[in-house]
Amino acid sequence: MNSLVAAGTAKSEVGDPAPGALFADLHLHSLFSDGTFTPEELAGRGREAGLAAMSLTDHDTVEGCARMAQACQALGIDFIVGTELTAEFEHKEIHLLGYFLDPQNAPLLSEMKKFQAVRKSRIHEMVARLNEINIPLRAEAVFALANCRSPGRPHVARALVQEGHCQSLDEAFERFLKKGRSAWVPKCKISALDAVTLIHQAGGLAVMAHPGLNHCDDILPTLAGQGLDGIECFHTKHSAKMSRHYLNLAARLNLLVTGGSDCHGFSKGKPLIGGVKLPGIYWEKLKAAPRNREGRRAVILGASS
Ligand SMILES: [Zn+2]
Ligand SMILES: [Zn+2]
Repeated sequence: MNSLVAAGTAKSEVGDPAPGALFADLHLHSLFSDGTFTPEELAGRGREAGLAAMSLTDHDTVEGCARMAQACQALGIDFIVGTELTAEFEHKEIHLLGYFLDPQNAPLLSEMKKFQAVRKSRIHEMVARLNEINIPLRAEAVFALANCRSPGRPHVARALVQEGHCQSLDEAFERFLKKGRSAWVPKCKISALDAVTLIHQAGGLAVMAHPGLNHCDDILPTLAGQGLDGIECFHTKHSAKMSRHYLNLAARLNLLVTGGSDCHGFSKGKPLIGGVKLPGIYWEKLKAAPRNREGRRAVILGASS
């Protein structure tokens, strides 16, 4: 029996399961994007936090998933392959989580390669803008620090701190990197519909990440009509009230419910892993979702495989 079946007895509907209930954290970043933990460290910390299931959702890559699957399997934790894509819908930036992806899917990997190239050229542009305002940062320093294929703004922030141009990551964002600041560069993004299609053709489920942060409630019904599978109702930056709101919306739109901490290790303050608890009842529904069931089951690894 899958250990998470027992979590159906969880009493709370807002991400705070009853003591002893099993839960999942399905939104985690490793050093394969802008997190600071290795996949093995994430798995270990997940175990300490009592997680029964985890997903690795690095930006624009599934590269860390094989290692994380192995580490989770050794610890008896369910693991699903995931990613987080940045997309846009009617000029609004949104983030889409892909779950149960085939990590070898050729179109997915080739699109991700393009997203990674866009990320690199964006770093070059941000550094050029910093240089224009006499901050002598080199792109090579950012890439060396990032040491991954999906470098992003947090890496630029870290490089600015490391080289003594800023005291803290917050200061780096506040002074230079936030939207509208001098070194901010808009990012070319895939359309939300194309992102959903890309995830689907790789056998995955497409889930709207942290809708409360992107203020995109109005687009959820349209996107649901275009194939969106779920909503990340539980997230570190969602209040209990917000989570209830998205649970209601998910029920109304007949969408799946997911949740996760969005832990970036030490890259954005303290590690958040396990701080958001997706009750097992939702995880069970996610696993039982009908689309391309066989494809997805093939990539579930861990205690239940
Ligand atoms: Zn996000
Ligand atoms: Zn994230």
